[in-house]
Amino acid sequence: MSTLVGVIAARAVKGSAAGSDNGRMGHRTATGHARRTALAILGLAAVVVSGSMLSGGEYVGPLVGMVGIALVLVVVGRQLIAILEGESHARSLEAEVQARTAELQKSEVRFRSLVQASSDVITILDEDGMILFQTPSVERILGYEPVDFQGHALWELLHADDVSAAQELFRQAIASPELLVSGEFRVRNSAGEWLVCETVFRSMLHEPSVGAVVLNTRDVTERKALEAQLIREALHDPLTGLANRVLLRDRVALAMARARRDQRRVALMLVDLDDFKAVNDAFGHGAGDELLVNVSRRLVQAVRPGDTVARLGGDEFAVLLDDARGDAAPDVVASRLRELLKMPVLIAGHELFAPASIGVAVADGSTGDAEELLRNADVAMYIAKGKGKSQMATFHPDMHAEMRDRLTLASELRFAVSRGEFAMRYQPLVDLKTQRIIGVEALVRWRHRTRGLVAPSEFIPLAESTGTIIPLGRWVMEEAVAALVEFQRQQLPGERPVSVTINLSGRQFQEPGMVDEIATLVHDAGVEPWTVVLELTETILMDDIDNAIETMQAMKALGVRLALDDFGTGYSSLSYLRRFPLDILKIDKSFVHALATQEGPGLVRSVLRLGDTFRLATLAEGIEMPEQHAMLKALGCTYGQGFLFAHPLKQYEVRNLISVQAREGSDAWKRALAEGVTPERQRAARREIAARLLG
Ligand code: C2E
Ligand code: CA
Ligand code: CA
Repeated sequence: MSTLVGVIAARAVKGSAAGSDNGRMGHRTATGHARRTALAILGLAAVVVSGSMLSGGEYVGPLVGMVGIALVLVVVGRQLIAILEGESHARSLEAEVQARTAELQKSEVRFRSLVQASSDVITILDEDGMILFQTPSVERILGYEPVDFQGHALWELLHADDVSAAQELFRQAIASPELLVSGEFRVRNSAGEWLVCETVFRSMLHEPSVGAVVLNTRDVTERKALEAQLIREALHDPLTGLANRVLLRDRVALAMARARRDQRRVALMLVDLDDFKAVNDAFGHGAGDELLVNVSRRLVQAVRPGDTVARLGGDEFAVLLDDARGDAAPDVVASRLRELLKMPVLIAGHELFAPASIGVAVADGSTGDAEELLRNADVAMYIAKGKGKSQMATFHPDMHAEMRDRLTLASELRFAVSRGEFAMRYQPLVDLKTQRIIGVEALVRWRHRTRGLVAPSEFIPLAESTGTIIPLGRWVMEEAVAALVEFQRQQLPGERPVSVTINLSGRQFQEPGMVDEIATLVHDAGVEPWTVVLELTETILMDDIDNAIETMQAMKALGVRLALDDFGTGYSSLSYLRRFPLDILKIDKSFVHALATQEGPGLVRSVLRLGDTFRLATLAEGIEMPEQHAMLKALGCTYGQGFLFAHPLKQYEVRNLISVQAREGSDAWKRALAEGVTPERQRAARREIAARLLG
């Protein structure tokens, strides 16, 4: 205690000595200014010290560093105020001491009561770091009696990991008595909890009357927690808790720098949910959010703990693979991810799927910076999306050219309709029991002048996004209905007429006047309306369910039939099936191909049962092998389509097959297809039909 008295007394004496020249106020302002300047410099020192403490000695990346420093600036501002407060507190102490020195005659009791008012813990150390004295506030802050640690080393109170840093500061303070050095340490309170305390060291060893190091300590645990929370919020997505774009970019930069040094391979995967908007529209934003959170969990499950999963906004996610080899190679992770995303989740009473497109970019020696890697992954995503749903693409430099290509294709597509560059193919749909052709699906092709026959998967999405699908779709419908008229002409009276199935895209489905157009077309062709089947996908229907149902009902009122295409690949399998006025359920080829797996037959069986429940005919797509045909037949599927029966064919080929079927019976067309239908055979068939009709 006598040392503390010495400290304050020494100041008091100094103050009054200087004050005698300049007058009290003048002196105070002058030294106050000097002190503030000194404090500002000290504050900067504290920025550096606390800044490096905040990062815990680890490199946290430029941005985290910046946010950290910004926060520390705030903190230091507060600290400066605190120190200034402390200083002014000290000054008022001095004044008080001065005023009362005479009457109290340096009474220890008086000082003790003044010090007790301090909100910080003041600790007096000897030159070895032994505690000589602590103010009573130690009891309020740490729960100890001031005497508890008297005679103990300061370090005993600190977290083992912080001791050497504290000792270093202690040495610095002793080496530069003119400086206030500060740091943050974990200090154990009497309950055994670790508090984060900010401590300012000041050596007064050189002052003969003091001969000690003075520490000013305050509890900043709550403030640190708040800082940590602020950093978290600035760098994380509030919905999923994943890293946000800012943090991802930082991590990518860091990973790339590290990879260059350690010869590792960094890969960035962008994951974008297909048609997520439809989920929001159909089930509400609450369900959409729930699905996003669920997807984020599955993404985290698919990667290693050291990898970063981020949400870039909306339905776009990113996965940074820090060391993309073996188990963590992008294609391995992607297939694991696809498996995980394939499983439906129950959200707000609906079974939802989350099909996603994946764009991958791997950093190599030529990849410049994080921005470039992100851009490359974006290009890969663009290409993946262009391939259709649930596709994956890995960036390679040619992709830039591919992207340019697609843009060229899009502009060429606009003129292709008026130039008559499209052609139709018709793929037979068969009765699985008898193999009779019951109808055909109309599939469009683009006869490109330089590229040859372009597949619809390459230009339908383009036509959709550019609006060309409207004139193109109109042409397809006209062609298909005209072909239907020709096909039905090959049939015998009394024979059940074959049908034509036409794919409708989302844009067409929503086009005002579409229902009227179909009505006119069917009427003018004179075909029975039920022999025209319109194929829709779930995605189209889920965009705006109530409107979709209304449009479907208007179509049904014309007498045409409706089929749901690619069943099982969309978001919701069950929820809305009941509400849609459908006739046919087309089971996606992925189910058919899965028949060979263990759970495949079960899956198909439940889809078929679903069809039964809603009184829908079922048609399996993509049948390529006799075993698939046999299994589907055994499981009770009615119709089928696939290369096993026939590829998409030219109109005259189908016409011939139908006439052979009419003449020779259900599966005779198969032989004819294998042998090739010769014009003679065709003519013979016609003659026979005519004779039969006459006879
Ligand atoms: P989709 O409606 O699912 O048509 C079936 C696709 O499966 C066709 O591809 C067909 O050739 C193919 N396929 C048939 N049997 C098998 C098989 O056994 N195995 C396999 N792996 N595939 C088989 P295509 O003709 O390339 O058409 C692709 C997609 O393009 C169609 O898928 C459809 O969504 C779209 N599309 C085709 N024509 C039109 C059209 O006129 N309008 C619209 N909006 N979309 C069309
Ligand atoms: Ca189709
Ligand atoms: Ca299909």
